[in-house]
Amino acid sequence: VIGLKETGKDSARSDPETPDQAQHSESFEQIQAARKLLPAYKVKSELLRIIRDNQVVIVIGETGSGKTTQLAQFLKEDGYCNDGQSIGCTQPRRVAAMSVATRVALEMGVKLGHEVGYSIRFEDKTSHRTRIKFMTDGILLRETLMSSMLDKYSCIIMDEAHERSLNTDILFGIFKNLLSARRDLKLIITSATMNAAKFSQFFGAAPLFTIPGRTFPVQTVFSRHPVSDYVESAIVQASKIHLSFPISSGDILIFMTGQEDIEATCEGLREKLTGIYAKKKSRGSEAEELDDIDILPIYSALPADVQGRIFNSTPNKRKVVVATNIAETSLTVDGIKYVIDCGYSKLKVYNPQIGLDSLQMVPISMASANQRSGRAGRTGPGIAYRLYTEDSFFDDMYVQTIPEIQRTNLSNTLLLLKYLGFSDLISFPFVDPPPEQITISSLFELWTVGALDNFGELTKLGRQMAAFPLQPPLSKMLLNASMSGCSEEILTIVSMLSVPQIFYRPKERQEESDQARARFFVPESDHLTLLNVYAQWKANNYSASWCRRHFLQFKSLQRAKDIREQLTVLMERKNVPLVSSGSDWDVIRKCICCGYAHQAGRLSGLSKYAHLRNGLEMRVHPASALFGAGDLPSYVVYHEMLLTTNEYINMVTAVDPLWLIDYGLLFYNISRRKEEEEDQGLYADESPRSLKDSIDLAIERALMKKEI
Ligand code: ADP
Ligand code: MG
Repeated sequence: VIGLKETGKDSARSDPETPDQAQHSESFEQIQAARKLLPAYKVKSELLRIIRDNQVVIVIGETGSGKTTQLAQFLKEDGYCNDGQSIGCTQPRRVAAMSVATRVALEMGVKLGHEVGYSIRFEDKTSHRTRIKFMTDGILLRETLMSSMLDKYSCIIMDEAHERSLNTDILFGIFKNLLSARRDLKLIITSATMNAAKFSQFFGAAPLFTIPGRTFPVQTVFSRHPVSDYVESAIVQASKIHLSFPISSGDILIFMTGQEDIEATCEGLREKLTGIYAKKKSRGSEAEELDDIDILPIYSALPADVQGRIFNSTPNKRKVVVATNIAETSLTVDGIKYVIDCGYSKLKVYNPQIGLDSLQMVPISMASANQRSGRAGRTGPGIAYRLYTEDSFFDDMYVQTIPEIQRTNLSNTLLLLKYLGFSDLISFPFVDPPPEQITISSLFELWTVGALDNFGELTKLGRQMAAFPLQPPLSKMLLNASMSGCSEEILTIVSMLSVPQIFYRPKERQEESDQARARFFVPESDHLTLLNVYAQWKANNYSASWCRRHFLQFKSLQRAKDIREQLTVLMERKNVPLVSSGSDWDVIRKCICCGYAHQAGRLSGLSKYAHLRNGLEMRVHPASALFGAGDLPSYVVYHEMLLTTNEYINMVTAVDPLWLIDYGLLFYNISRRKEEEEDQGLYADESPRSLKDSIDLAIERALMKKEI
């Protein structure tokens, strides 16, 4: 039975469609004709004129009007690349950068990576010939480290600025100075209507240019009762639409929060419709299996070739795209008539009071809800089904999404800014400044990892850390490893942490795949488990079939290998020695502890940990190697915290409490809670309130240590 299953569903899903099927059927002429119909095309000459006359222009337009795909092409045609300079276009999301670059290369009839290319973290598809470069805003921010004048660019398009991603906001501040130093550089900011006036004001009343466009009315249907399981509701709603409206009426777009619920929705919808069709068939009707519907997921961890499939259409089939908020404004799929909106998104949230980063499911904003609904009205009137009540729309949703800079850990960003020479952050020109609490807490974190000195200046370690495109805990871990003699191993771990899902867990073979995964477990550490997987894969000549046999995602591992190679080059360039600790895994765990000393927990009760700095109760994620492996270790550090109904910690490693004292000296202290109690252990110090307080505290600590 298992053998049958293996050849069935599984192989069909892991292999993308054959290239022929995946190819666009549009001819070059058809593409050019379609371009001419886009609203942006119709205002091309006015747009180019206003750009010629102004250094900064803000372009507003409905989603799908051609801002992203056309603007860069217009600029190139207008001669902005004639002196060998390039046009850079930033995107807040990796998927968008890749997808849009692919599209523009196709429209221009060039090979991706030649005249048109893209660059995202750890993946550079550009060459010396590249003149139109799509990239994430994070990449452009890094480029300003290398070349502060951005000399190679004649124009920068900052796309999707209304998203207010952290990096876009920081780039705005940097441009404010840069633009007066480089009068010849053009900055074009594209935005949905929200925030546009604010951007104009920020750049000294820069002109706004609106691309006129037409949208159709969208009927919004709220859920009458609160929805307890939005995946289930979305499946029910989508199958209802599919079965009651003719395929020719239009396609369906479902908004979910991330990979997990997207896959669950796709799978569930497939199952449900298969069931219904089978029933019909048994009643004698000729309904075939799912041959009238294409269910297509889109999220960032998906390989590029699979991502591209959302744009293909097959005649006589209804397309159901199940997406994250990438489809809100970044990507436009034509032909959508029905939108189903779960009403949530996954956000990275930082709590400065307790110094805690976490991923949280939060209600989207009203503005997002309306953007999502609007996607149904691009080519004709549409319907948006909201899987939440009207009350919750008004009561639970903010009017606008809070800009990332005001809700996220800024330590990485502040490290870059320090490196760029903005020593005084108070005077940095922010569009909206981050809350002081967050700035202080992030600076504090940088100081605790040794990136800043007691005066808030970058240390040598801090400068080295800034050179690596990694979160501070990871770069710290890597740099520390070269001194401790295990940088080969930590490098592998860091690379493995930079790719999504290593383990493959198909729904119909869960038990089997769980067993396969357990065979790689190193019971005291998920990090070492990753190292173990990589080492075994390497020992098997990086084989793809070996991965398949062991339920590992070959593509993810390949990517980890690629990232590892890139980081190796960077380490060589920065003179960071590559050394291996051989079979001594304690050194590695100690190094892991060094990176994450501020994210530690102490066993409390049978299955829970108490966060050492704030007492928060946390559970080990069921996918962890530590889960169900007998007695849990007394102290652990973790990589990531996930807040859902429970607090879960992901990627966990057992540590020796003495290491925590070594590396977390600033936080922890050995104490007896009560003299009479024998309960001895590590406790967090009272949270320092400001950088100065914490410095005083540290000096005190250091003195105390000497006395001892
Ligand atoms: P905007 O940036 O104004 O939202 P875009 O430039 O992204 O608009 O999209 C313009 C048009 O190009 C839309 O009709 C969209 O569907 C189409 N398009 C964009 N990317 C692709 C793609 N990869 N494949 C097919 N069509 C695409
Ligand atoms: Mg766009």
